[in-house]
Amino acid sequence: MSKVIIPYEDLKKVNAPYFDELSAISKRIIEGGWYVLGKAVAEFELDFSKLHGGQYCLGLASGLDALILGLVVFDFPKGSKVLVPSNTYIASILSIIRADLTPVLVEPDPKTYNLTVGGLTQHLDKDCVAILPVHLYGRLNPMPELVEFAKEHNLKIIEDCAQSHFAEIGGVKSGMFGDIGAFSFYPTKNLGALGDAGAIICKDEEVYLKLKALRNYGSEKKYFNKYMGWNSRLDEIQAAFLSVKLKDYQKVIDHKRKLAEIYLHELIGIDAIQLPAPAGTEHVWHIFNILIKDRDYIKEKLAEKGIITEVHYPLPPHFQEGYRTILSGYFPIAEKIHQETLSLPLSTCHSEENIWQVSKILKELVI
Ligand SMILES: *Cc1c(COP(=O)(O)O)cnc(C)c1O
Repeated sequence: MSKVIIPYEDLKKVNAPYFDELSAISKRIIEGGWYVLGKAVAEFELDFSKLHGGQYCLGLASGLDALILGLVVFDFPKGSKVLVPSNTYIASILSIIRADLTPVLVEPDPKTYNLTVGGLTQHLDKDCVAILPVHLYGRLNPMPELVEFAKEHNLKIIEDCAQSHFAEIGGVKSGMFGDIGAFSFYPTKNLGALGDAGAIICKDEEVYLKLKALRNYGSEKKYFNKYMGWNSRLDEIQAAFLSVKLKDYQKVIDHKRKLAEIYLHELIGIDAIQLPAPAGTEHVWHIFNILIKDRDYIKEKLAEKGIITEVHYPLPPHFQEGYRTILSGYFPIAEKIHQETLSLPLSTCHSEENIWQVSKILKELVI
C-alpha cells in the first residue's frame, strides 16, 4: 500500500483546535464530582434549544436512543406502521423495531435520496401512525410538503437529523419541522462529541416532560417511576464538549459547503458520475457522495493513490442478515444506490487543495 495522502476523515485533526479548551473542561468536571445529567447537560440543552427557535431540548445517550424515545413517547398501538426510507442507515429502522412498531420501507427520490409525497402515498394505509424522514447525507427532505401530508393523514413526524444539524429551509432548521427532531453527536457527525451522545428537540411541553422522565428510568421524582423508562442519560463531559464545539457550527457548515462546491464544479459533466443535486441552505454536507459504476474498483484505485473513500452504505437494510425476517420486498432504487454510492473525503480536516487533488485523480480514473 502506498502512503495515505488524503484520509477520509481525521478526528484527531478535527478536534485538535479544541484541545486546550476540552482539557480544561475535563479537569473542571472531574474536580466538580458530578458526572451525569448535571449543569453542563442543562447548559448544552439550552444552547442547542436557542439555536432551534427555543424548542425544548433533551440531551440523550445516542442518536439511536433519540429515535427510539421519539417514537415511544407517543404510545402508538403496538405494531403500528412507520414510513421510513428504504436506503437509510440501519439505526433509523432499528429504532422503529425497538419501539415495537413496524417499519414500512419507502423508496427515495433517486436524485436527492430522500422521501417524496408520491412514495409515501403508495404505502399509506390505516395502520400508519408516523413518518420517519431521514435527512440523509445532510440534505433536508422536502419538509413543507411532508408536514402538509402528515397533517392531512394524521401522522406524527420523527425527523432523523443525525446527519443534518442546522440544515434549513426558509429559516426553519432540521428537526423543527416535525413533532420530534432526533440528533446524534457521534464523533464523525457535523457536530460530534468525543464519545456517544444524542438529543431530541420538540415543541410540545407534555412530550418534553415525558421524554425527560423516560431517559432516566421513567422517573420525575428520584426513585419514583411514573413510566417504564430507559437509561439514556447524557454525560457532563460530553455535554460540555458539545457546548464548546457548538460555537463553531456555522464554520463547519461553511467549510463543508465550500469544499462541496469544489467537487460539484470539478466533477460536473462526467458521464460516469452522478453528482448530488446542487443545494443551498437545505444541505450541510455531512457526506459528499456520488454514484459511480464499478464503485468497488474505483474505490480500490483511489486507495492505491492514497485517497481513502467510504461507502454509505454497502448493503441496503432489506438485505442485512439480522433483518431478513422483518424486512422484505423489492427496492431497486435503494439497491442501485447501495451498489454505486461512494463518499468522497469532505471534512474540516480537509483543505480546498485536498479536494482539488481528489477531483483530479478521480477524473483521471473515469474519463
Ligand atoms: C449516526 C446515525 C444514527 C445513529 O446515531 P448514533 O448516535 O450512532 O446512535 C441514526 N441515523 C442516521 C441517519 C445516522 O447517520
